Amino acid sequence: MVAVGAPKDADAAVVVEECSECGETTGRDFEAVEEDDETVYALFCTGCGAETKRLHPGPS
Ligand SMILES: [Zn+2]
Repeated sequence: MVAVGAPKDADAAVVVEECSECGETTGRDFEAVEEDDETVYALFCTGCGAETKRLHPGPS
């Protein structure tokens, strides 16, 4: 898996929570993805690589 790094404009430097897939308390990787003509951030467990949630910046 390619590490993309955290987006500069999101306060996402430290996210640690329990993963529902592997049950471990792990960090999160972020990846920007296109969804419905907007860029959202998919969060991946650093332990098992499962996508845990997506962050929608929403209209600003
Ligand atoms: Zn996991």
